Amino acid sequence: MSKKQFKAESKRLLDLMINSIYTNKEIFLREIISNASDAIDKLCYLSLTDDQVGLNRDDFHIDVIPDKDARTLTVTDNGIGMTEQEAENNLGVIAKSGSLSFKNDMDAEKSEDLSIIGQFGVGFYSAFMVADKVTVITRKYGSDTAVKWESTGADGYTVTPCERESVGTDVIMHLKADNDDELYGTYLEIWKLKALIRKYSDYVRWPIRMDVPRQERTETGEKNDDGSPKYEYKTVVENETVNSMVPIWQRSRKEVTDDDCIAYYKEHYHEAKDPCALIRVDAEGTVSYKAMLFVPGEENEAAFYGEGKGGITLYSNGVMIMEKCDKLVHDYFEFVKGVVDSPDLSLNISREILQHDRQLRVIGQNLEKKIKGELEKLLRDDRPKYEEFFKNFGYHLKVGVCDEYGRYKDFLKDLLIFHTGEDKQVTLREYVDNMPESQKSIYFASSDSLRHAMSLPQCAEVKNRGYELIYLLSPLDEMVLESLHDVDGKGFCNVVTDDLGFDTDEEKKAAEERDIENKEFLDFVKESLGGRMSKVKFSTKLADLPCAMSTEGPVTLEMEKYFRRGPSEEMRKVRASRVLELNADSAAVRALQAAWAEDKDKAGRIAAVLASLAELMAGADLEDPAALARGVEELF
Ligand code: ADP
Repeated sequence: MSKKQFKAESKRLLDLMINSIYTNKEIFLREIISNASDAIDKLCYLSLTDDQVGLNRDDFHIDVIPDKDARTLTVTDNGIGMTEQEAENNLGVIAKSGSLSFKNDMDAEKSEDLSIIGQFGVGFYSAFMVADKVTVITRKYGSDTAVKWESTGADGYTVTPCERESVGTDVIMHLKADNDDELYGTYLEIWKLKALIRKYSDYVRWPIRMDVPRQERTETGEKNDDGSPKYEYKTVVENETVNSMVPIWQRSRKEVTDDDCIAYYKEHYHEAKDPCALIRVDAEGTVSYKAMLFVPGEENEAAFYGEGKGGITLYSNGVMIMEKCDKLVHDYFEFVKGVVDSPDLSLNISREILQHDRQLRVIGQNLEKKIKGELEKLLRDDRPKYEEFFKNFGYHLKVGVCDEYGRYKDFLKDLLIFHTGEDKQVTLREYVDNMPESQKSIYFASSDSLRHAMSLPQCAEVKNRGYELIYLLSPLDEMVLESLHDVDGKGFCNVVTDDLGFDTDEEKKAAEERDIENKEFLDFVKESLGGRMSKVKFSTKLADLPCAMSTEGPVTLEMEKYFRRGPSEEMRKVRASRVLELNADSAAVRALQAAWAEDKDKAGRIAAVLASLAELMAGADLEDPAALARGVEELF
């Protein structure tokens, strides 16, 4: 019997695939089971119109049979089977299923493209990732004879007639020898096979059965010395259906309540808390799909960092194609977990990979709208719950607003909330709607704690006018405002760095003149501080405080703190330009001025103490706190 050769293209692709595409070899089982399931679909469909089939829906099944002695793993189905010609056409030509057209469309050697194949499956040939020989025994419905197709991989295959009792197909994989990289023998272990079936094929519509040995104990009737009964143990083998067949998200709302979905969520994702939102979609149209998504109740770090389950899992007709499909929704919704199942997504790369991408995009866009809608509902109807959500995941939304030069900011901006007080958080829209007519800007103050931000001396004047402030508690918040730029034309005003816009032109002029008049004194203070402050000026807005610190220029104190944790030396050196503001009416500043006239050393010490206090109030770290204590001591 002569060996037939694979077509040249097939050979190359086969080689590529076996040796390089899949790092994830275990998916071969999913592929082989999917083929079996398709074959059963076909015969089951035929049985609807053809009485001769003689099988009911309940009669169909897939069997997974490991044989350690022979080192084979067999997947058997009682589906439609193949004729000799079909076996040759379907199994002998890898290009048949469209892989060739895929290869022509793209440069298949680009590793990026190859990873796509891995995600969508290449079907039958994946068996060669774990097997050095594959034997297929198949008998087509309506035929009396069977055929045996056999191949040891890229070097070709043989087809010979043979016997098979009934219609269907056996795919017998002769597993490769174990090596340092891969223990192929584990694919003969019941626990491993069960785990793989549950992971990848749990929702295949047909029962996937396995013989599972179980220890059974029976009383012998005799007693031990202590009077307890003696047992006899024996191994019994039970034929078990391993997959659960109908996934919860495939069932109708009438069958499955929201509580059922939540129970699934908690069990499947090992979550202790209820999700804060559940989204169920049954879409029909250009792209049909079912989705069951959850916004988690809390951040589960294990899931987020890829150690646990999370993200959105993609199924096609109950067969998992991607465990975490990060292309489906943007990163700003990456905390969403759940399942999307669409029959329009084929397991097979053949049906044009690019088309999948387009469909995925359509599904993704629809889901994003639903997720946003659900979050808006929560924001409207259950503020405490939304605040809890935002505490956990608001970060992702904020990053989303800044990402890609603000491309998604309009979509996301109404989901952001900010503190305006100890127990109050508002959206920017609510803030603006609540602004008195006279208020021209949205005022904000930044710090790492709410209490501190609220106590910043510069806030007082804004509050005195009856205006609210928003308090920013992370450096990211400032970037968010920068990205948003304005709300309905109302710009943002940092109370520490920006002109509050309250002063009349005369007041501004008077302030400038005062600083010019006192130039010598102010220069002295600046000099004596040796570069700590880039400017020293008087301020009339400090109420009962002797001094305060603001910053000028694009870098704020919060940004400086953020950069200080940065990865490069250059980044860590970034400093905000500090401005020391002095209250001319305060006793301490008067003492400073008096000392400047009489005792420059003492004046220098007072200036240093005031500068430290101003830095402390602004939330800057003191380089040498003990120097402040010493400075105070020296004043008396
Ligand atoms: P596909 O993605 O088209 O399933 P495969 O390489 O997995 O590509 O399989 C090629 C073809 O071989 C299938 O389309 C099907 O016609 C046939 N085939 C594979 N396995 C079976 C089976 N168990 N029963 C019947 N036909 C099968």
